[in-house]
Amino acid sequence: FTVISIRCCTFILFFYSFIFSSFKGVYISNLVVLFQWEVTQRTLNGSQFYTYSVCNVGEREQDNWLRTTFIQRRPAASRVFVELQFIVRDCNSFDATSLTCKETFNLFTSESDADVGTTFRKGQFKKVATIAPDEITSKNELRINTETRVVENLSRKGFYLAFQDIGACVALLSTRVYYKTCPATVKSLASFPETVAGGENQALREVSGVCVDNAVSEKLPRIYCTVDGEWVVPVGQCQCKPGYEEVKDACQECQPGFFKAVASGDKCELCPANTQRLSSGVLFCPCMDGFYRAPTDPSTGPCSGLPSAPRDLVATTTQLSAGKLLLTWSPPEDTGGRIDITYSIECQRCEGIVCQPCGEKIRYEPASTGLTDTKVSVSELDAHLNYTFIVEAHSGVSLFASQATILYPVSSDPPKITTMRVVERTSTSLSLSWDVSPRPRVPNTQVRPIRYELTFRKKDDNLDMTTYIVLILEKNSVQINDLAPGTAYLFRVQALSSDGSPGGSSIEEQFETSSEVIFGAAVGGAAMLFVVVVILFLRRRKRNSNSRQGPEDTYFSSSEQLKPLKTYVDPHTYEDPNVAVLKFATEIHPSHITKQKVIGAGEFGEVYRGILKVPARKEVAVAIKTLKPGYTEKQRQDFLSEASIMGQFSHQNIIRLEGVVTKFKHAMIVTEYMENGALDRYLKDHDGEFPSFQLVGMLRGIAAGMKYLSDMSYVHRDLAARNILVNNTLECKVSDFGLSRVLEDNPEGTYTTSGGKIPIRWTAPEAIAYRKFTSASDVWSFGIVMWEVMAFGERPYWDMSNHEVMKAINEAFRLPAPMDCPSTVYQLMLQCWLQDRSKRPRFGDIVNLLDKLLRSPDSLKTIADFDPRISIRLPSTSGSDGSPFRSVSEWLESIKMSQYSENFTCAGVVTMDHVLQMKNEDIKNIGVRLPGHLKRIAYSILGLKDQTSTLSVFAV
Ligand code: AMP
Repeated sequence: FTVISIRCCTFILFFYSFIFSSFKGVYISNLVVLFQWEVTQRTLNGSQFYTYSVCNVGEREQDNWLRTTFIQRRPAASRVFVELQFIVRDCNSFDATSLTCKETFNLFTSESDADVGTTFRKGQFKKVATIAPDEITSKNELRINTETRVVENLSRKGFYLAFQDIGACVALLSTRVYYKTCPATVKSLASFPETVAGGENQALREVSGVCVDNAVSEKLPRIYCTVDGEWVVPVGQCQCKPGYEEVKDACQECQPGFFKAVASGDKCELCPANTQRLSSGVLFCPCMDGFYRAPTDPSTGPCSGLPSAPRDLVATTTQLSAGKLLLTWSPPEDTGGRIDITYSIECQRCEGIVCQPCGEKIRYEPASTGLTDTKVSVSELDAHLNYTFIVEAHSGVSLFASQATILYPVSSDPPKITTMRVVERTSTSLSLSWDVSPRPRVPNTQVRPIRYELTFRKKDDNLDMTTYIVLILEKNSVQINDLAPGTAYLFRVQALSSDGSPGGSSIEEQFETSSEVIFGAAVGGAAMLFVVVVILFLRRRKRNSNSRQGPEDTYFSSSEQLKPLKTYVDPHTYEDPNVAVLKFATEIHPSHITKQKVIGAGEFGEVYRGILKVPARKEVAVAIKTLKPGYTEKQRQDFLSEASIMGQFSHQNIIRLEGVVTKFKHAMIVTEYMENGALDRYLKDHDGEFPSFQLVGMLRGIAAGMKYLSDMSYVHRDLAARNILVNNTLECKVSDFGLSRVLEDNPEGTYTTSGGKIPIRWTAPEAIAYRKFTSASDVWSFGIVMWEVMAFGERPYWDMSNHEVMKAINEAFRLPAPMDCPSTVYQLMLQCWLQDRSKRPRFGDIVNLLDKLLRSPDSLKTIADFDPRISIRLPSTSGSDGSPFRSVSEWLESIKMSQYSENFTCAGVVTMDHVLQMKNEDIKNIGVRLPGHLKRIAYSILGLKDQTSTLSVFAV
C-alpha cells in the first residue's frame, strides 16, 4: 500500500490505493495463500489501479483475509474514517452450487505501536463493521458501492485495517483513510491553529488562540472544534490596540490624520481641530504649534490656542470721591476656540518705567481673578494718584503660556540697586530706602514688580555666631525695628528677578542706630507691611557671593526642618580656608600614611590606595587624594576645601574623612577606602548581575546619605553615579564634595549662559535655566542616579547631545524605564523629574518609599513598560539621513552590534519589519546573551517602534 495524503479544505486524507508491486507476496500473498484474495491490475488514464478480489462462492466455510500495511496515526487523530469502494456480486447470478454464497464482508482493525511486518494474528483484530452493498452487481451490470465507517478511540502509534471475506464475491477497488480537522482560522481578530477534531469521548475540543499582531484582549480568546471539523462558539474577543483599526482580520495603523486612543473594535477617528495630522498609528493627535490641551481636556479632543488680549478696556469713575472705579472691557477677539475664558486684573503704580503693585488695600468687586464677566469695580483708590490696570484673559490652556517663561525666562538685565540711605533713625530702628536703576523695557512684555532681598547683621558680631536676618520686600524702602541702640549694622540689598532668584549686583552699606533712647519711637513704628516672607537663618559665618549655598538653596517642607540640628558651613566663608580645614579635619602626619597603588585620577592629582597607621590605633585601608606639584595657592585651597566639607559630615552613606596632610609640602586628603570604586564603572562591569532588590538596596543607601546632606542644608549639585563609591559589602556612599569641580572642572560640565559649568544630564531644569540649585534639584539628580543604577551604568540619554536633552526635557519627555526596572522604582524616578520642584519628593520621602519596597519585595515584581508618550526618543533609531534603516545589518551596524548579524539571519529575521516584531525573549533566543547587548538591541527596537508608529505622540 502506498500512502498519499491529500489536503482539502476541511480535512486531511490518507488515500490508499492498492498498488501492484513486487512485494505483493509479502503482504498479500500470505493472505492470498491463506485466505485466497487475488490481485488484478488495471490501467486507467495512465494510472495503475489494483483490485483485490475474492470469489469462492462455491466453497464452504470461507475465512479469507486481506490486511493493509501499518498506518501511522497523527497523535491527536483518535477518530479516523475509512471510505471503501467495492463491488459485490449478486449470489443469484451464480448457479445452484453457490448456496453458501454471501453478499457482505467485514471490516476489522488492530492497533499497534510498531509495524509488525507480515505477522498476522487474527485474534488481535477487532471488528468494526459488516459491509453490505447498497447495490449489487449482476451478470450484466457492474455496480460500485461507496461506504464509510468510523474507527473510534485510537490511541496507539498506528493501526492496521483488515477485510474478512466469509464467502462473498467481492472486489475492493479503493480504501481512503482520513481524519477531520478544524482548519487554522482567524476569528474576532484571534488566530487559532489547525486542530484535529475530537472523537466520541471529546465531542468539542477547546482551543486557545492568540490575538493577531497589534490586537489585544482582556481574556484569552477561545473557540471549540466540533467532531465534524467546524469551529463553533468563539469566546473572548481581541481588539485592535490604540493607534490601530480592524481591516480584514488584521489590525492596521490609523492613517495619518486619524487616531485611536483606546483598544476597541471602533475605527480610527478623524484628528480633531488644531492638531497635527502627519503621523500614522497615533493614539491621539498632537497639538499644532501654538495650540494646547488643558490638563482637564481629553487627549482625544481638539487643541485650542491662547486667548488674545481683552479689548476696549474702559474705566468709568462712578464715585470718584469714594475712590471707586468701574472697569469694563470686551472679550478677546480670539478666544482660542475655548469657552472657559476668565479674566484677572492687576493694579500697578508706575513711576517712569518702574512699576510696583498697588498693594493689598485696593478692593475688587466681585474679585480680582477668575472673573467671568467683563467688568469689575475697584475701590479704596487714593485720589490724585495714577493707577495702571492690567486685564488679562485666561483659559484652560493659559498655563502653557507661562510654562515657557518658567524654564527659559526672557533674560533682561536685572535691575541694579544704585544707592541706599537712611531716611529716619532712632535708637532702636532704622528706616532705609534705596534707588533702582531703570530697567530696559522688553517690547510686548509686562514689567513685573521688583522684589528685593535685604540681609542685615550687627557689624561687630562674633563671626562664628552671626545672626543674619533676611527680608524679602516688595518696595524699595523698609523700617527695621527692635535694633540695639548705638550699634552699627551692615545692610545688603539685592533685587530679585521674577522667578525669585537674586539678580544684579548688590549694594552693602553700614548704618548705625542713634545712641539716645527715645521711648516709644520704636513702638509706633509702622509694621513691616510689605514684608512678604521673613526667614531667619542662623548662620555661624557670613556667606560670600561665591557661596555654594544660598538662602534660596534650602527648601523646607515642614517646620521641623526650619531648625536643622546641624547645618553645613561653607568653608569659603572663612577668610583663611586653612583655618576651616583645621577646624573640620584632623591633621595626619605623612609618616603614618603608606601609598600602595594608584587607583584613580582625581581633579588635583592621583588617587592612591594605601594604609593609615596612626600610633595606638588599628591600621586601616584608605584612599589618598594627592595634590599634583606646581599647584597655586588657590588650587591648594580648593583641593583642601573638599576635606573641610567632608569633615563636617558623619553618616554611614557619606564617604568618611580620616584626615588631611596640610602642614607638609605634599597636601593629601585621606578617606576611607571603597574597594569597588565608582558606582557607574562598577555596575557597567557587573551588568545584569544583580537583582532589582539589590539595586534598590544600593539606591536606599544613596538616598539616606542625601537625606543627611539635605537635612544639613547641603546641596550637592553633582550627584551622579560616578560620584558614588562602593565598598566590598556593596554599601554606597556619596562622595565628591569639591566646590570648584561643579563649576569649573567637571568633565560632564557644560558652560551655561550664566557662567559656570553644569552636568546637564544630571541637573534639574531650573538649575540649568537660572542656577536654582536646591535639595529639590539634588532630588532630580537622584532620579537620574536611580536610572543609572537600574540600567547598570548606562549613560543617561545615551548619545543625545546636551542640547537635545534639554529640549526633550523641556518638552516634557523623560528617560524611559530601564530594562526590567520595577514599575514602582520607575514611578519614583518620574516623581523626581517633575517639572515643578515643589512637587518632587523629599529625600526623607524617598528613603521611606525605598524602605517600603525593600520590606515587600513583591512590590518589585511588576516591570515598568515602555511608554512612548512620556519617553524620550531613543538614539540610533534612524539612518544618518533620518530615514528608517534599509537592512537589518545597516541597523545593527548603527548600534555597533554587527557581531549579531548572523544570529539575526539564521533566525529568519531578515527585514526591519521582522526586527520590529521582536520581543526581549526573541532577542535572547536568537543568541544575544550579554545583558548590555540585549539592552542595547531592545532599546533600539523600542526606539524604532516609537519612531515608526508613535513618534509624534504628544508628551503628557
Ligand atoms: P575623585 O577625584 O573623588 O573623583 O576620585 C577619582 C577616582 O578615584 C574615583 O573615580 C575612584 O575611582 C577613585 N577613588 C576616589 N576615592 C576613593 C575611595 N575612597 N575609595 C576607592 N576609590 C576612590
